[in-house]
Amino acid sequence: MENFPEIPWTLSAEAAFFLQRCQETENREALFRLGMIEYFSHGRVELGRAFLARAVCLGHIAASYVLGIILLCTDKQSILEGMELLRSIQRFKMVSRERTKTILAKMWKNHFILPERSICSDPMCSKNTQIRNNGWNLGDGNIEEEIDCDACKCDKELQLFCNILRGL
Ligand SMILES: [Zn+2]
Repeated sequence: MENFPEIPWTLSAEAAFFLQRCQETENREALFRLGMIEYFSHGRVELGRAFLARAVCLGHIAASYVLGIILLCTDKQSILEGMELLRSIQRFKMVSRERTKTILAKMWKNHFILPERSICSDPMCSKNTQIRNNGWNLGDGNIEEEIDCDACKCDKELQLFCNILRGL
């Protein structure tokens, strides 16, 4: 974004912004930021998702993290896709979470995501029961290693993300 040439003064702000977008369409970091702004700040969720998805295609890890979370909350069909996306960046989850936290902290947030149901629907899932009884131990990074249920891992990540989004 810093490299964008000076905008001629004759352009309206909106036109300049559009031009800027066109020039940045293959810059994954710019796409990630635009996606975050559109989704969480302007509440234009479809546009935001499209930018994030493009950034994911270009290999942006934090965009994969955010899109994965969004997909978990979108509809039933998207849950598996979201889980897959989060699984693909498993090793980078913590760093992606921190990156997301940094960018969200600087943003005006108008659109929040709310998980409607828990991803793990297995009442016999022992980890799930344990979580329900004790609550997530959010400060303990090691607990994730102890969870062997993918769905429960997603539930935990979703909880962490929602806390970040609300500035907790
Ligand atoms: Zn589970």
